[in-house]
Amino acid sequence: MGKFKVMHAPQQAVLAHRPASPIPAEPASKMTQTTDTDVLIVGAGPVGLVTALMIAKQGIRVTVLEASHEVIQSPRAMAYGVAAVEVLESAGIAQECRDTGLGDADYIRWITVDGKVIAKIPRPQARYDPVICGQHLVAAIILKHLEPYPHAKVIFNHKLVNLKDHGDSVTAVCDTPDGQKEFTGKYLVGADGARSTVRKLIGCTFEGFTYDKMVVATNVHYPFQEHGFSFAQFIVHPEHFALVTPSSVWLTCRLQKSTDMAYGAVHTEKTPP
Ligand SMILES: Cc1cc2nc3c(=O)[nH]c(=O)nc-3n(C[C@H](O)[C@H](O)[C@H](O)COP(=O)(O)OP(=O)(O)OC[C@H]3O[C@@H](n4cnc5c(N)ncnc54)[C@H](O)[C@@H]3O)c2cc1C
Repeated sequence: MGKFKVMHAPQQAVLAHRPASPIPAEPASKMTQTTDTDVLIVGAGPVGLVTALMIAKQGIRVTVLEASHEVIQSPRAMAYGVAAVEVLESAGIAQECRDTGLGDADYIRWITVDGKVIAKIPRPQARYDPVICGQHLVAAIILKHLEPYPHAKVIFNHKLVNLKDHGDSVTAVCDTPDGQKEFTGKYLVGADGARSTVRKLIGCTFEGFTYDKMVVATNVHYPFQEHGFSFAQFIVHPEHFALVTPSSVWLTCRLQKSTDMAYGAVHTEKTPP
């Protein structure tokens, strides 16, 4: 088994089990590979970026390799669990995220499709105030906080396609607009999301099943609060299930049978301000 250290960011680590590595170790002659950085991180999602910030703050060289040309802008996370808020606090950006986001949570409600309240609970109390802030805005804050660290780099348009194990270092092979490029680090963090290439390349499993429904998320510019909507509500209905909640604007998520819509057909462009 190769000896290079692949660290999986926590969200993946709980799901990933690493069997004997399918990556053949490079010959011993290559063990002295020069490293471009100490830590390579694959993926500039929230996990990769916050990991990069925390590493950079320790004075350790870090390079993030991101396949896309920018941080993903489609509507995703807006409210964070207690554990995630603690990480944002440790990274020193929680308050800035609160100030940038959409204020405090009041109630979470479950309502019928015609607005009758089934259940209503105040937001749970925790050690820190909640953070309600669109995931892309959190990413922008992290990128700004990374700027003062010259030993931290975030490189877009670099899609990881292969890994080379040198025993005491690892090389990431990326497809880029200028052809394939290689980056070598002492460690590599796989933070490249649910379909992780790192996970597949190192032979980790991702056990479980996929629901036969898709969640379709959309930004909606509409004054929901003027129509009695609270911070977050699940609309309970076998067909018209939805979550309506503020993100950078209002975010609605609906369930849709996966057979009704091709994956690539989901609209992901930025909505107008
Ligand atoms: C509609 C919706 C609502 C959500 N709401 C919430 C919420 O309110 N609260 C919450 O906590 N979570 C929420 N989530 C979940 C949250 O968005 C994810 O948990 C989070 O994005 C995971 O972060 P990540 O950094 O692990 O991966 P991702 O955000 O998926 O980022 C992975 C990055 O890796 C890049 N990448 C992929 N493959 C490669 C490769 N080969 N080479 C280089 N780069 C690569 C991708 O382009 C991407 O930028 C929501 C998700 C959705 C879809």
